[in-house]
Amino acid sequence: MKKFTGILIILWAMVHMPACAQDMDNEREWEPEDTEFYEPVPPVVEAEGGFMDPPSDAIILFDGSDFSAWQSANGDEVDWMLDEGEMTVMPGSGNIVTRDGFGSIQLYLEWKTPTEIDGDGQGRGNSGVFLQRRYEVQVLDSYENETYVNGMAGSIYKQYAPLVNAARPPGEWQTYNIIYEAPEFDDNDELVSPAYLTVFWNGVMIHNRTEVKGDTEYIGPADYSVHGNDGIMLQDHGDLVSFRNIWVRELDESPVWGHEGF
Ligand code: MG
Repeated sequence: MKKFTGILIILWAMVHMPACAQDMDNEREWEPEDTEFYEPVPPVVEAEGGFMDPPSDAIILFDGSDFSAWQSANGDEVDWMLDEGEMTVMPGSGNIVTRDGFGSIQLYLEWKTPTEIDGDGQGRGNSGVFLQRRYEVQVLDSYENETYVNGMAGSIYKQYAPLVNAARPPGEWQTYNIIYEAPEFDDNDELVSPAYLTVFWNGVMIHNRTEVKGDTEYIGPADYSVHGNDGIMLQDHGDLVSFRNIWVRELDESPVWGHEGF
């Protein structure tokens, strides 16, 4: 009888142990450092180009004149600074988000970090562009400024480093040209198709239809949460980062989008 009980216990353990191990992994206490990687280091490239005027089908989100397309992420009026055709983060006032939501888009914008260097690593010219309020393409002063490579400028934050470091010196305007494919969820809120990001930084490709792993997370692994067509969000990370010439094209508005071909 004892032997039989012993066999039963072993069988029970064989069935249940893998699940126990998985539970322990899910309940793991993550530290921010666990998702920060320092190599391989993207090679530095010098890039002069990348500037672009909005084409005729673009929706202008910021032409330097006002914040009419934007609101504070908490729903209040925008409290950022507006001066000489550019907007600048008002530290402590919070993120701002477009009043309109978008699906799959081409998003173009220009940004610059402060000429006066203050801080280092993640504390130097930090902001960010969040697609649908949750997937961050990092904005940072990455000119001779070391940090984890999946948190440098051009990174899909805490997920992917950019292919190269195309950073210009602080105080110089830089460009992002982003092609964003929104994720799709089914009626049961299950992910059907992930988000993809293609990004040009100062005209240089740094992501080639990269599969986004889920919502941007500072701590722990990324995971998807069901959502609709939320707005584009710009981050207040406490640094005086400026933006100008922001426009978007709605790719999924074209009748050709998703067409299988001829
Ligand atoms: Mg950021």
